Amino acid sequence: MRPVRRNSSPIAGDYNDYTDARTDLVSRIGSGWSDGNHLASYCSYCERPISTGLAVEHIEPKKGPHGKPHLIGRWENFLLACTNCNSTKKDKKVIFTDLYFPDRDNTFSAFDYLKDGNLQPADPGDQIATDTLKLTGLHKERRQTHDEQGRLIAEDRSSQRMEVWKLAEICLQDFNTDPTNSTVKNLIVRNAVIAGFFSVWMAVFDHVSEMKNRFVDAFSGTRDSGCFAVDASPITPAPNPDGLQDGGKV
Ligand SMILES: [Zn+2]
Repeated sequence: MRPVRRNSSPIAGDYNDYTDARTDLVSRIGSGWSDGNHLASYCSYCERPISTGLAVEHIEPKKGPHGKPHLIGRWENFLLACTNCNSTKKDKKVIFTDLYFPDRDNTFSAFDYLKDGNLQPADPGDQIATDTLKLTGLHKERRQTHDEQGRLIAEDRSSQRMEVWKLAEICLQDFNTDPTNSTVKNLIVRNAVIAGFFSVWMAVFDHVSEMKNRFVDAFSGTRDSGCFAVDASPITPAPNPDGLQDGGKV
């Protein structure tokens, strides 16, 4: 889960209509850029590129038994979510000491992304990471199907993650054939931005600091999170530059 910095609210006070925050959220924490062009917008939880239907997500639910209606227009309570993550998280109770969130914790370090499309807590004993996966359903089993030629057709978040893992591996092969070729490197960054799943690209290019730095810079809000060093290695705990409640747990 890509750590981000939302920074201070673009308006004074709360939003009357929270959907008005969407453009600023996409720009600051949910955009993929290449050569100054916005190429995709991403869910804050599953990291998928979402072309339409990416919603302003309330970290603390706006309604339900654990709802915080007074936070419905509060900038600090916003992320972006796809329909899958939204419908899994629903109006579940959020206790910041017990869960990781990408705006306040180094959520990249908290999870290991695997070749089979799954992800798991980086530390198997990390209960907060386990509960964060339960909240968002990101560890759900794949429902992949195959076409007549046996090729994978992704139909859920895990399968899509696996597809992008394969794409990133192909890109790594291209990179390795000529690590000095700037055209290849530019194309790889464009592929990453269009395909999404930041953490997958970071995992596959784990030994290539130069490319990891380019991914960190291409996905908005990531560098600003302060969660990556100059060699793109993760910094923990997250510096939590906006001083968000119970941030920097990892
Ligand atoms: Zn999602």
